[in-house]
Order: sequence, then C-alpha cells, then structure tokens
Amino acid sequence: MMAPTCREVPGKFAPIVDRNRCEGSGACARVCPFKVFEIRKLVAHDRSSLSVRGTLKAWAHGGRQAYLANPRDCHACRLCIDACPEKAIELGAFAG
Ligand code: SF4
Repeated sequence: MMAPTCREVPGKFAPIVDRNRCEGSGACARVCPFKVFEIRKLVAHDRSSLSVRGTLKAWAHGGRQAYLANPRDCHACRLCIDACPEKAIELGAFAG
C-alpha cells in the first residue's frame, strides 16, 4: 500500500477494493466527496476470482460490491478507508 498525502491532486491515487472483503454496504459511496464509487453487481470475472469465504460473503449480501465509477476524481482523502466496516479499501497509484 502506498502512503498518499491527504488531499492529493486528483489522478495520482485511486482506491483498490478487496473483492474478498467488500460486502457492498455503500459506506464508501456515502462518504466520498467526489463520487468515486458506485455499488453494483459483481462482474463475472470478479465473481469467479473470489475465495470460498468471499463467495459466501457475496452470496449473503446479494452479490453487490463497490466499484470505481470515477477513479480519476480521487483526492486521496482516505475517508472511504476509514468508513469501510470491512476494511476492504486501500489506496494505490492510479494506473489510468
Ligand atoms: S480517498 Fe477520498 S476521494 Fe478517494 S475514493 Fe476515498 S473518499 Fe473518495
């Protein structure tokens, strides 16, 4: 995990969602000031890569998880990391 400075310029960092931890609670989407997240159904590729535990969690929570709708708008404020009850989010360099 990288160590961004608070309020970086957008386009340098973006959230990484751990598919085996995310339960789609939407806390990240609610706290993000820049509307980086959307909550939607797991795509097939992500579903097929889940661990057994991740598959059970996805089943229990309707197969919905956090995805990045606007990753370029992330300012690395870390509010989503603090808000996630599953500790499913970290920041990484934005790959574009
Ligand atoms: S670090 Fe801040 S700006 Fe970036 S996705 Fe999380 S809440 Fe949004």
